[in-house]
Amino acid sequence: MLSKEIPVHIPKWKLWQIVILLAVCTIVAVPSGADDAVSGIVDSQTFLKKNLTPAGPPASASAAAVEKLLGQMTLKEKIGQMTQLEIGMVTDGMDQAIRINSEKLHKAVAEYGVGSILNVHDQALSVEKWHEIIHDIQEEAKKTRLHVPVLYGIDTIHGPNYIVEGTLFPQPLAMAATWNPELMLRGSQIAAAETRKAGIPWSFSPVLDAGRQPLWPRLWETFGEDTYLATVMGVATVRGFEGSDLSNFASVSASLKHYMGYSYPTTGGDRSPALIPENTLREYFLPTFAAAVRAGVHTVMVNSSEVNGIPGHANGYLLKDVLRGELGLQGFVVSDWMDIKKLVGVHHVAATEKEATRIAVLAGIDMSMVPSDYSFSNLLLELAQEGKVPASRIDEAVRRILTVKYQLGLFDDPLRGIDSKTVVGSPESRHVSLEAARESITLLKNENHTLPLAKTARVLVTGPDADSMIPLNNGWSYTWQGNRASAYPKDHATILKAVQEKIGAANVTYVPGTTYDKEVDIAEAAEAATKADAVVLCLGEWAYAETPGNIPDLTLPDAQINLALRILETKKPVILLLTEGRPRIISRIADPANAIVMAYNPSNEGGQAIADVLFGDVNPSGKLPITYPRSANRLFTYDHKVFEGEDGGEGKAMPAPQFEFGSGLSYTSFSYSDLRVAPATASGSRAVRVEVTVIFERALCERDAASEAAQAIRESFAATGREPPGVFRIDSRRLVLYRRRQQARCRARRVRCESRWTPANVRMEISVMQRS
Ligand code: BGC
Repeated sequence: MLSKEIPVHIPKWKLWQIVILLAVCTIVAVPSGADDAVSGIVDSQTFLKKNLTPAGPPASASAAAVEKLLGQMTLKEKIGQMTQLEIGMVTDGMDQAIRINSEKLHKAVAEYGVGSILNVHDQALSVEKWHEIIHDIQEEAKKTRLHVPVLYGIDTIHGPNYIVEGTLFPQPLAMAATWNPELMLRGSQIAAAETRKAGIPWSFSPVLDAGRQPLWPRLWETFGEDTYLATVMGVATVRGFEGSDLSNFASVSASLKHYMGYSYPTTGGDRSPALIPENTLREYFLPTFAAAVRAGVHTVMVNSSEVNGIPGHANGYLLKDVLRGELGLQGFVVSDWMDIKKLVGVHHVAATEKEATRIAVLAGIDMSMVPSDYSFSNLLLELAQEGKVPASRIDEAVRRILTVKYQLGLFDDPLRGIDSKTVVGSPESRHVSLEAARESITLLKNENHTLPLAKTARVLVTGPDADSMIPLNNGWSYTWQGNRASAYPKDHATILKAVQEKIGAANVTYVPGTTYDKEVDIAEAAEAATKADAVVLCLGEWAYAETPGNIPDLTLPDAQINLALRILETKKPVILLLTEGRPRIISRIADPANAIVMAYNPSNEGGQAIADVLFGDVNPSGKLPITYPRSANRLFTYDHKVFEGEDGGEGKAMPAPQFEFGSGLSYTSFSYSDLRVAPATASGSRAVRVEVTVIFERALCERDAASEAAQAIRESFAATGREPPGVFRIDSRRLVLYRRRQQARCRARRVRCESRWTPANVRMEISVMQRS
């Protein structure tokens, strides 16, 4: 495990050696986080600790005003606040032709006093269009007796995906592959500012479901299978969205979703049941939510499905005892789409919608995403009048909702953000997205230095994902399903266009070969391959979101496999480039492929990022945030039990996964050696000292050194049987600095960071030294 030898790519480069010295001391009380800005080391645990600070203003600041308002409200007005409707309930038309219908709006806001409206119908709107709609809604709210503003919410899964020209970022799974919480934070800040600029103060994100079921069609909305990585990235998202002050023109309230256990359905199908023992639930699925609640998140959305036979929307134990009692959520809980109704027709735990409403509200749902009728308002009013839902429960929910509205500054200015100077989709923001895409791309195989390709090479680009923005983005991109080509901006390069720009169109041949699942011109593609120096084979998925993304088989469709097999027969160097939201099985083509690149869904800047990596302008540094399975019937995560993994027990060895969690090569050569652990076993207050030497060749870009050093630290811990010390990122600028100094053994500043895994209060000291 420690002698991970990667072949030398460019031998003439000078050899650099970095010694990573870890001193781990148990029991010592740790100062609250190292100053990573000073040290240049971005350690995940330090990041996490630093970012567990809730956004202001605190609920107490508006408590008196909320109580006063509550005291003035009628029962119907209160129930209105608990009601959320979709945009079609107040508008006519679709897409850019959408416009407010004043009668509908009057009914929703003036008559029913609805507290919240959501979504698009059914395409992203321009900022100007959003201004028009939000303005009209808030004007109507101003005319009501108590002038309570309406809280508008949309899904911002990878940036403001429902705002035309908003900056889209790689999808969350790709963001996780960067292992860079600072980048996640920055991207979320941009997403929040652009969303608020449109007048929208509430985002239904991040998805904090642990991505441990590869079939699940929402895997790419998650931060992958590791609870800790997802926790750090989740906190980064919440902090980026909510900022230090929720009422700021650049902040929005986040909404954690989908609390909890939604991501682990037995069948893999969206919204199908999960069976998760409570210890497993607490170990793998709860911590992401717990940390984000500690970070001060203001709203939580509920699991649409069921866990252990209890629908999320009827689970009082999880919603009250755990979420409120244990985690301490202060904000409010919103249902998912139509999910109170589904307690009747889907889950069969209620005979009527009225009974379902009672169950859900008493279980802890504060706001119902109804979303297309007034049944919730009418039924809850009846229930309250009949004494079946106590007034105190309604007050509790409304108090929470009004408090968040106050915290967002909506009572001061319901249009806050609209006049901000934020530019939507600025070149700077797009650059952050490009950086994220570059950092996410994960090189999984590179036989005989197939990559990077020479810029003089003649290249065949083929495959269904080569010339479309759709697979680069996937769902939640301008439309829910993300599959409307006309909705995508025209000024971003597909993979094909980016390769053409990189090496000149004359050097590039393009033959599609197949669609996602149908053969088109495979023979022509194979013929073109014979004339090329290398083939970039762009396979993977098309776009999908939620239930429409269910599949019966993880294997790539036959058409794509057939294309690959025909191209491979030509014996030309083949780079298998995957753009996909979940790990589709490639075992029949992985071995003969010369290089394999996982690009996930890198979004609009992804074409360029991919071309930068393919031709060596960027050295790949992404690491897989999931285990890539070898076969569709053998799915397990890296933290599996013995019999689940390669050691099937009784001497029966099972194949390893196609690629392990954390895999990711670079164009640099490096090796780890000289692991020294003293003493070999640690317990109690004994300190353990770990040293490992990483020898690597100078990289194409400096980041690579940092990335590999971090990996060495993780692996050294794994080898000692201890848990790895978290998601490390060592800022390459520091390494560059050492090089500049050119000293034989110049010693870096010591940096302290804390590990969550090792026994309580572990402290590590890392020194990075360079030997010439
Ligand atoms: C999804 C949620 C989403 C909501 C509103 C539901 O179908 O499960 O994740 O926030 O729709 O768009």
